[in-house]
Amino acid sequence: MAPIAPQPGIMEIALYEGGGSAIAGRSDVLKLSSNENPRGPSPAAIEAVRASAATLHRYPPTDHASLRAAIAEVLGLDAGRIVCGVGSDEIIHFLCQAYAGPGDEVLYPEHGFAMYRISALAAGATPVVAPERERRVDVDALLARATERTRLVFLANPANPTGTMVPEAQIARLASELPKTCLLVLDGAYVEYAEGCDGGAALVETRENVVMTRTFSKLYGLGGLRIGWGYAPRAVIDVLNRIRGPFNLSGTQLAAAEAAMGDRAFVAETLAINAAQRARLAEALRGMGVACDDSHANFVLARFRSADEAMAADAHFRSHGILVRRVAGYGLPEGLRITVGTEADTTRVLDVLARFREEAA
Ligand SMILES: *Cc1c(COP(=O)(O)O)cnc(C)c1O
Repeated sequence: MAPIAPQPGIMEIALYEGGGSAIAGRSDVLKLSSNENPRGPSPAAIEAVRASAATLHRYPPTDHASLRAAIAEVLGLDAGRIVCGVGSDEIIHFLCQAYAGPGDEVLYPEHGFAMYRISALAAGATPVVAPERERRVDVDALLARATERTRLVFLANPANPTGTMVPEAQIARLASELPKTCLLVLDGAYVEYAEGCDGGAALVETRENVVMTRTFSKLYGLGGLRIGWGYAPRAVIDVLNRIRGPFNLSGTQLAAAEAAMGDRAFVAETLAINAAQRARLAEALRGMGVACDDSHANFVLARFRSADEAMAADAHFRSHGILVRRVAGYGLPEGLRITVGTEADTTRVLDVLARFREEAA
């Protein structure tokens, strides 16, 4: 008898590599490798986590009604179109599990987020990649690769790790020109950092084929707690709720997310710091001859002259206690993705980079 084997596709999954978090022998590490909020979580969220300890013996609610209502109220959305998950990763996973299987295709752009491929393969579907144009998602290239087998199209806007954005009108065109047999998933992990952008919420409300995913991991500083959500037509929400574990989010997760959503002052302060330091970082990088596109997120993709130079800069950063993200796995070997930190963090990054430049000169 043949030995037991996993479903096809699963052994093709390369394990996700998170951003580094420690450097042996150093206690002053500045972690700018995972696009986390440099200020940490909102104090209100920390307090909600503490308070939740008293009811850890209770099963959590299965409908997430309170959190969905809080999200809906703050963002002006329909609570009935929201589904919550263990990070937006879980929403991505649910979408693949529900809508794509063997013989189906899952389409995403060249520099797209690693989870799209992982979740597509986990569902037994075939990942298909569309080229980008100078680190910008190319809507026409996506349309050219969409076929009657395409079930899902994933697109982060702003994108990670490039930080670039596709204009709203092009997203709308993509939604209307894709085959009717597939869903367009707009990954809004960074959408709050892009001023005046709704992440596709209006499209979700007016179309049958658009889904938006959001997260508490970036702006809200709760990456460690794992909370995300999706906004979708009610028919899609109904499907996702059937495969969602009834207790997928703990009472602690739900309480923290609701508190974080309510702390608008914390959000506003975080956004103001990010906007100022992002502009400062990008300008200083360019001033040192390191190229970067305008970022609409909470990180900047620094592009060095070669992959070797990027590796040398990464090593230099590490030797000074700074962790940034290599993005060779995203097809950008000359790039280092640097999370935007506080004013002091940015000063430290720029000082270290200036020394790197001096030593190389
Ligand atoms: C960080 C990130 C997410 C968020 O993942 P969570 O599971 O919510 O922590 C989703 N998409 C992209 C593109 C990201 O960079």
